[in-house]
Amino acid sequence: MLKNRGTLNHMQAYVPGKPIDDVKREFGITEVIKIASNENPYGCSRHVIDALKEAITQVEIYPDGNATLLKEAVATHLNIKTDQLLFGAGSDEIITFIANVFINPGDEVLSCTPSFPRYQSATQLMDGCFIAVPCVDYKYDLQGLIDGITDKTKVIFIANPNNPTGTMCTAEEQRAFLEQVPPHILVVADEAYFEYACESEDYPDTMSLLNEYKNLIILRTFSKAYGLASLRVGYAISQPPVIDLLNRVRGPFNVTSLAQKAALAALHDQAFVKACVSKNKEVKTYAYRMCDELGISYIKSSTNFIMMKTNYNAHDLFVKLQTHGIIIRPLGETNLIRVTLGTMDEMKKFFAEMKNLL
Ligand SMILES: *Cc1c(COP(=O)(O)O)cnc(C)c1O
Repeated sequence: MLKNRGTLNHMQAYVPGKPIDDVKREFGITEVIKIASNENPYGCSRHVIDALKEAITQVEIYPDGNATLLKEAVATHLNIKTDQLLFGAGSDEIITFIANVFINPGDEVLSCTPSFPRYQSATQLMDGCFIAVPCVDYKYDLQGLIDGITDKTKVIFIANPNNPTGTMCTAEEQRAFLEQVPPHILVVADEAYFEYACESEDYPDTMSLLNEYKNLIILRTFSKAYGLASLRVGYAISQPPVIDLLNRVRGPFNVTSLAQKAALAALHDQAFVKACVSKNKEVKTYAYRMCDELGISYIKSSTNFIMMKTNYNAHDLFVKLQTHGIIIRPLGETNLIRVTLGTMDEMKKFFAEMKNLL
């Protein structure tokens, strides 16, 4: 009999947003919208499609393990040095690199709950001890995290803005927090929704803190506003010594050539990102209005999704909406759901169904 590591007995496989084809098959319907995984409903830049067509002729060649061209382009875009960047198959992969590098058995990792579940699984996989401080009013409790620090604490993960709540910490709050974190503890600022959040005046310019706080890693991704979720490209920004450590656990060819070329093309089309962010804002305003009209409570979001609270059990609502061709994300055994801001048409369909159901 095979003997797995004991740690795995306490873990479960990640449950992703339900795929569209599953719902079509299960309920025998042809029109299905997925507003469950915070993907970009407007697709990606058309330049990405062109880049992919070109890249597809060279699939027999291994990718550039250093992601040289993409690294140079992102470094220029962010006005940093190339040795401050590391690419992963999604920022998700980099979260596991961080755990691989910094977590010894018994080390403590702090974050808030509810938040991104991968912080916990990456910690557990290294036999670390994950400690979740409850959010306060669905916001990261930064003081609670400070209070939770012990001499075993190694890493603190902060999703800013947070998923699934959509809330953000301000520049002032983040700065006050960083001031109190001892310099031997790594702080990971996961900015997966940066492009949406940076619209807000008090959203932190975390990049500007990298020189001051050598214990800081910023995570960004091409999966959300850039619309490349299926290609898997994310990156870490930090000081060169931290990047060097992460590079030691990175597989040699972790980001495919198609992904690298697509990300490069996507980066060069900032107009596309801008247009998506602007449409997202419009749809968000509409969604707030509809929630108010239908008596659905919600948390104001700095992202492309909204957490809502209804009188329905989330899982029941999730199943019910599926039979009408709508996939949302239920949040455990609560009345909370997370709804990605789709196109205006998708949201109209969603709220029409909600009106029927509630
Ligand atoms: C979506 C998301 C990510 C992961 O994105 P990748 O596709 O792995 O780059 C990371 N953090 C948060 C908070 C997210 O919501």
